[in-house]
Amino acid sequence: TIGCRQHLITADMLKNAFPSRQPTTHKGHAGHVLILAGSPGKSGAAAMAANASMRAGAGLVTLGIPKSLNPVLETMVTEPMTVGLPETDQGALDESAFERVRSLIEDKRCLAIGPGIGTAASTGRLLARLIEESPVPMVIDADGLNLIAADPAVLSRRKAPVVLTPHPGEMARLCGLSTAQVQDDRIGHARDFAQKHGVHLVLKGAATVVARPDGTVFLNVTGNPGMAAGGMGDVLTGLIAGLIAQGIEIFLASRAAVYLHGLAADRLESQKAPMGYLATEVMDTLPEAIKALM
Ligand code: AMP
Ligand code: MG
Repeated sequence: TIGCRQHLITADMLKNAFPSRQPTTHKGHAGHVLILAGSPGKSGAAAMAANASMRAGAGLVTLGIPKSLNPVLETMVTEPMTVGLPETDQGALDESAFERVRSLIEDKRCLAIGPGIGTAASTGRLLARLIEESPVPMVIDADGLNLIAADPAVLSRRKAPVVLTPHPGEMARLCGLSTAQVQDDRIGHARDFAQKHGVHLVLKGAATVVARPDGTVFLNVTGNPGMAAGGMGDVLTGLIAGLIAQGIEIFLASRAAVYLHGLAADRLESQKAPMGYLATEVMDTLPEAIKALM
């Protein structure tokens, strides 16, 4: 414990996080994730988030993308299912996808939204309606965060628990501060935002901060600077969602995910090189990191 309300995330506190699988467990028991992601030029973010949920152990993953991206995503991902959704003229997810998404959520245990999704106003309206209506926990990342930065108050209208996963630049936009100001007091800003908006908040970067709505804060010690590379955050998003879908409570899932994500990268750093390992390799190392934890 550091200070009064800051703690370190340890392997010990995560050991029992994973529900044990019975011999008769089937994929329907292991949880179904819905991920909304992608826009032209950013299909990789969608693919990585979806595959990372599978690597986390989710039973099923459905990836919703703008419909013109469906043919390419069909070949990029193998295990996840894909659904092409209504899109804007520029190929971004359109607000008119709302009813379809609402019906897709019905049998899901978690909704993740944001990787590569772009910042079209119509996508922003879709996201705001989903925050207000989703009955299942939501993970909001990347452009999803940039979309709510204009009006973070929408978070207080949520029905279900929400976790946000900003990097310092996204956090700066959410708070209306500079990145330097955020970095100057990472714990303070993460805690304040979580308390003010009643959300879980993962402020990424060296010593990732995980804050709960009541102001409790945990710091992560795994991970290394080799993770400063495109795609790493998309993998974390899918990982958190995959853990939540398996029935792990959102704050525990967030802590477990940042720990496992860093642990997988630390393995690659020591086995391979201090940089140049890929987000997809971190993703593929997640099962070993999970095994090391269990
Ligand atoms: P993103 O910027 O969304 O791709 O997310 C980057 C991911 O890599 C986050 O999980 C960060 O915590 C992690 N990361 C980036 N740089 C570092 C670093 N220097 N030390 C530890 N983790 C890092
Ligand atoms: Mg990111």
